[in-house]
Amino acid sequence: MRDCTERYGIHERITDLAELTYDESELRWLATARDGRSWTADAVVLGVGALHQPQLPDILGLDTFEGPVLHSALWPAADDELTGKRVAVVGTGASSVQLVPALAPRAQQLHVFQRTAAWILPKHDNELSSRRQVAYRAVPGLQRAVRWATYWQLESRVLAFARYPKAMRLVERISLRHLARSVRDPQVRARLTPDYTFGCKRVLVSSDYWSAFDRDDVEIVTDGIARVERNAVVTVDGTRREVEAIVLGTGFNITGSFERIEIRGVGGASLADSWSSGMVTNLGITVAGHPELYFLLGPNTALGHSSVVMMIEFATKYVLQCLERARVTAAPHVATSGAQVDFTAEMRRRSKGTVWASGCRSWYLDRFGNNTTVWPGSTLSYWWRTRRVDPTHFEPVPARLPVPAQSVPASAEGETIVPQQF
Ligand SMILES: Cc1cc2nc3c(=O)[nH]c(=O)nc-3n(C[C@H](O)[C@H](O)[C@H](O)COP(=O)(O)OP(=O)(O)OC[C@H]3O[C@@H](n4cnc5c(N)ncnc54)[C@H](O)[C@@H]3O)c2cc1C
Repeated sequence: MRDCTERYGIHERITDLAELTYDESELRWLATARDGRSWTADAVVLGVGALHQPQLPDILGLDTFEGPVLHSALWPAADDELTGKRVAVVGTGASSVQLVPALAPRAQQLHVFQRTAAWILPKHDNELSSRRQVAYRAVPGLQRAVRWATYWQLESRVLAFARYPKAMRLVERISLRHLARSVRDPQVRARLTPDYTFGCKRVLVSSDYWSAFDRDDVEIVTDGIARVERNAVVTVDGTRREVEAIVLGTGFNITGSFERIEIRGVGGASLADSWSSGMVTNLGITVAGHPELYFLLGPNTALGHSSVVMMIEFATKYVLQCLERARVTAAPHVATSGAQVDFTAEMRRRSKGTVWASGCRSWYLDRFGNNTTVWPGSTLSYWWRTRRVDPTHFEPVPARLPVPAQSVPASAEGETIVPQQF
């Protein structure tokens, strides 16, 4: 990646964005980087990602630990300090399933601290056989057909995620068979068995995570961590495990990428303040009060059943249409409050009865228990909704700036949503 940035001469243009302020007199954004440089922009597209700002756990005494403490998002280039050591791994999610199998053969002893067991499916990550490669070369369209078949196979899963969570019992059986094949000790298996519906938390894909616990030098610990001492992790039952390094697979602060940029829209309103009661957007792309500001992989556009890269591509095509409109009309546009309120209400309504609302705690739900992360439908339906920009979702700036909406009925059930915008 560094080579590319140098080869194409974009290295010096990459910088850490600190502030975005809308200038109403100029109808432009003022962008300021952390290194002090600044630019103006007619439009801003934020592709800042959601899964790279470390979520550090609030464990008593963690700062007093004498050895290295590594988070998966801040991994050092050289991690020799873990080889031959007694290592604690905290967290058993999507990062941990990658870390544990890689660390198990290197560490002298691994203690993996688990709060909630994860559902795991085997990873079909095999090399393509030479026969298949020959077939792909020889039969026109075959590779594309296989690719489409993969897409539809993944896409069909949304029915179970969003409509019929009970159907997950079938997949749970596949996962439990995978567990039974991977771990011999029934007690260890019991500790690794989830107690919530498959899909409620992120489903993990790994063929070598569970089998790592079949080793004598890898322990799964299900007692909560009471505190960390200078050279040990102590669990609530009083057991003290001496370790020389701690690895945190504790996930990410999903709003962190937005929050580390001070975004001020029309009237100087801070986006962080207006999102303090939950993120609200239209289609996960636009926010009322923020003209010509667009999000890629914004709220409610992550997935539990397929690849988010498609969602980013659909949003990108939508944004390109908006930018073209701004160019043709020579006028910036802003999302209406109404479109945002309707979309938020729709997300709440459609999230009910999905597997994500089946009673577990997950990164899909915000601290108020609302799904602000995942698109509660098929990728096909998101493509349909974003393929053309609905002009009624926007208004020109400054013709009629958004009026603060107080509260509106949000759903057929009469639930009321207080919009967090302007
Ligand atoms: C453990 C793990 C497992 C995952 N598994 C899957 C999966 O199975 N399927 C799937 O579809 N997705 C998965 N994802 C999600 C994955 O994050 C996305 O697929 C993809 O990386 C998102 O792309 P993006 O460009 O939106 O964000 P990113 O790839 O995160 O890129 C964002 C970029 O913006 C930069 N940036 C952020 N803030 C600023 C700023 N203020 N100034 C300048 N630059 C900034 C960052 O440095 C980064 O380079 C997984 C993620 C993780 C961490």
